[in-house]
Amino acid sequence: MDDQALLRYSRQIMLDQVDIDGQERLLAGHALVVGAGGLGSPVALYLAAAGLGRLTLADADEVELSNLQRQIAHATADLGRNKAESAREAALALNPGCTIQAITEHLDGAALARAVAEADVVLDCTDRFSSRYAINAACRTARVPLVSGAAIRFSGQLAVFDPRDPDSPCYACLYPPGGGASGEGDEALSCAESGVVAPLVGLIGSFQALEAIKLVSGAGTPHRGLSTFDGLGGQWRHFRVPRDPACPVCGPA
Ligand SMILES: [Zn+2]
Repeated sequence: MDDQALLRYSRQIMLDQVDIDGQERLLAGHALVVGAGGLGSPVALYLAAAGLGRLTLADADEVELSNLQRQIAHATADLGRNKAESAREAALALNPGCTIQAITEHLDGAALARAVAEADVVLDCTDRFSSRYAINAACRTARVPLVSGAAIRFSGQLAVFDPRDPDSPCYACLYPPGGGASGEGDEALSCAESGVVAPLVGLIGSFQALEAIKLVSGAGTPHRGLSTFDGLGGQWRHFRVPRDPACPVCGPA
């Protein structure tokens, strides 16, 4: 790190849990952010600001007027632009030292597997169950930790799944495919159908960015289980999530 970098990241470096070594690990790190919308916006901005050296941002959608209420990486002038491109530009304006790749197609299949395998951490900032399951399976195969966030109406949730930890569940343990688990029905509704209050995606996205920074820098211990936030009551709750021995993704074949 040169003097400019030492100054830029000084408030993080002065933290004992990060220090120079942790900041160097961040600068050498690579995060894949799938979705550059409500959650992906704060994730991309905070990871770039914090000095995550390499980001891959994936989103096939274009910025619409109804996105601007909460998707803070995009400005009014970005209407009609691809979201991954727009978020890339906003993150680079914050920190030109980051290397940021924008993927403007829907990321699935072999391209998803490749992108996940190249990353040190994956942040699921999508709002579709099909994408969530595909990302989870790809992370499991490539043994890359997954930071999953969701936000709808006034409530949000966060979970971290680490395939390198033999005790860690996966997303499909929490929400068995087609299982109709509580919460799935709600969460399956998109923000377009249900609405979402602006700062809620900032809260959950910031929580995701924090967990990614911890995973890459080595600070603290990774989040375990499921955290949910009820914005109307202002209450966090925490649930243990055991590994499901019958899970179709991470259970024994
Ligand atoms: Zn599982």
